Amino acid sequence: MKKILSVATCVLIICSALPFASGKYYDKSSESDQNNLTSCHIKIEISDAEEIALLLSQKGFDILKNTITSSKLELIVNPYEFEELTILGYNPIIITKGRPFREIQAEKINLGLDVPDGYLDYYEILDELNTTESIYPDICKVYDITDKYNVSPTYEGRHIYAIKISDNVADDEDEPNFLMVSCHHAREIVAPVIAMYAIDQFTSNYGLNPVITDLVDEYEIWIAPVWNPDGYQFVFNYDNMWRKNRHPYFGEIGVDLNRNYPFGWGSGCSGSSNPYSETYKGPSPASEEETLTMIAFTQDRHFAKIIDYHSYGREVLYGYCCHSHPFSSFFQSEAISISNEAGYSGSVRSPSAEGEHFEWQIAINGSYANLMETHNEFQPSYTSAEAEAAQIWPSTIWILERPISLSGHVTDYVTGVPVEAEITLNGITFSNDEEFKSEPDFGRYHLFLPAGTYSIKFDAEYYHSKTQQVVVTSDCAEVLDVKLNRYNEPPLAPIINGYDEGIEGGQYELIVEADDPENDDLYYFVDWGDQTSGEWTGPFPAGEQVSIYHIYKSPGQYTIKAKAKDVYKDESLWSKPFTITIIENMCPTDPEIKGSNRGSPGIEYEYSFCSTDPEGHKIYYFVEWDDGSYEEWIGPYNAGEPAKVTHAWSEKDKYKIQAKAQDENSAESGWSTFNVNIPRNRFLSRNIIKIFSDRFIKIFKFFFIY
Ligand SMILES: [Zn+2]
Repeated sequence: MKKILSVATCVLIICSALPFASGKYYDKSSESDQNNLTSCHIKIEISDAEEIALLLSQKGFDILKNTITSSKLELIVNPYEFEELTILGYNPIIITKGRPFREIQAEKINLGLDVPDGYLDYYEILDELNTTESIYPDICKVYDITDKYNVSPTYEGRHIYAIKISDNVADDEDEPNFLMVSCHHAREIVAPVIAMYAIDQFTSNYGLNPVITDLVDEYEIWIAPVWNPDGYQFVFNYDNMWRKNRHPYFGEIGVDLNRNYPFGWGSGCSGSSNPYSETYKGPSPASEEETLTMIAFTQDRHFAKIIDYHSYGREVLYGYCCHSHPFSSFFQSEAISISNEAGYSGSVRSPSAEGEHFEWQIAINGSYANLMETHNEFQPSYTSAEAEAAQIWPSTIWILERPISLSGHVTDYVTGVPVEAEITLNGITFSNDEEFKSEPDFGRYHLFLPAGTYSIKFDAEYYHSKTQQVVVTSDCAEVLDVKLNRYNEPPLAPIINGYDEGIEGGQYELIVEADDPENDDLYYFVDWGDQTSGEWTGPFPAGEQVSIYHIYKSPGQYTIKAKAKDVYKDESLWSKPFTITIIENMCPTDPEIKGSNRGSPGIEYEYSFCSTDPEGHKIYYFVEWDDGSYEEWIGPYNAGEPAKVTHAWSEKDKYKIQAKAQDENSAESGWSTFNVNIPRNRFLSRNIIKIFSDRFIKIFKFFFIY
């Protein structure tokens, strides 16, 4: 009841201050009307303004930090907060009241003023991203982040998008990831302009500007211009002062997305617990789909560097609000450099609260993350917003070019596969469960460290931990690749199987199979029981049936056993023995050779070779033609089925064809022989005719002369 009264009072104040506000705005009976309650930019004139600002900030009021003087402060409030301030006796004075940003654009156009008509709404930004992808398909790809990570859309059903800019953009390359994100806060519409400007710079200068080309090649760059699409659209359509998302809780609307992250959410300096507050942190950490989307995105990309754009203030925010971090002064000096590069004269500060996006990135991933408050008003002319983007662009280049103090890969010593390791900086206390780790796809890790000597421990489940000493300087880019040795269990003893009978000389097939506790690939060694020396064969996937072959040279009983070893060379016990009988193999008969025993050079003759086999095995034939050529084990033929082969001898001679037979189990016959005489008719020999004709000419010449 008290709340309804409060709202009614606020209605009166706002109505009297703003002649165009109609009474229906404040009928709370329907949600669409609730949507029309708009924010106000107000000021409070009071003697101890700095103290009051701190007090109000702690109560969850959204103070415009750079408006605070000793006698005045400015805030953005919703009607409930306006009422609360009034009850507290602060006498708030309205500067402007929120209304559709589109209306402001239209009015300025009509008045011929410097118009912020270049501002794109959410859908126009998506069009622009898609156009960029179509112009630069080799280095740009637009991702529907909501779909990619299977996260629910926003409360009003919108998806969140990012554009990836990198060489080989379709591939997930082993490169550090950089995230540029803007518009966690809806009304801060300068921030998407800055993100869009960066997209244009990276793409249009690629291949022309060597610095930008190298950065695009070396990084996986992700730019998400609007992380709060519902709030951003609400700014364009209803209330240009709107800050939060549009998710209703307890009859109020919106969560401050930059207070909803699950780091410091429950701390004394987190966002407000009042659902009507401009800095309402939500009912629980990561309650919002936008936050969950960023969590999924980050868990996949493991961003090394992050810049999160807001407005306004022209300063760089670093570190935590009230939690402590051992590298706080390092963060501060880095932030000063970024601020200088952005043309913000080194202006920096700690964040306003905890539960902010960039603080969470620092905590969970050791990222080089900052928030930049850009410009000095929320909605300047578009020309001015673009000028701001151009002014701060060098800071983006600076962030990307800033070396990662220590990076590398953690991999398995034997297999080289990436290992997800926890990284501990020995002797340095991180009191807020901060995590440093290598990512699973490449084993890549990054550490941003103040200059010093570090003892760094790498731990991973199933692995022996490893500690390394590293010296880091203020500008170094040390690379330390770490190979971890695994605790290893040997494979289980193999199970072996096969026919219990084989044939002398035949190929015996043994089926071998073993499991491995770590599912490593396996090698097998078989003791065939015949004193032959076996060898390791593999690798094969654990648990897969593998065929291994062996030829027994003589009949008898043999006991087979096998063992396995994994890729770490740890061996299993021997398998249970398996006994087989190798039976004798009878030789096939010497081949019978049939065909012509006389012939002429250069003419093909057909010969047939035929053996039988006592066991009826299939038969191969080896034939020597006696002119240096031979047929090498042709077949197989059924026993008793002749093998037919043609041959031509090029020279006149006597030839002895030799042939032998072998059955499919390698039992060989003796040699058979068959004599062939080439040529069959010597008077047809070309040489003989030539000799004869030469003599005839001589005789003819003799008669002619005499
Ligand atoms: Zn902001």
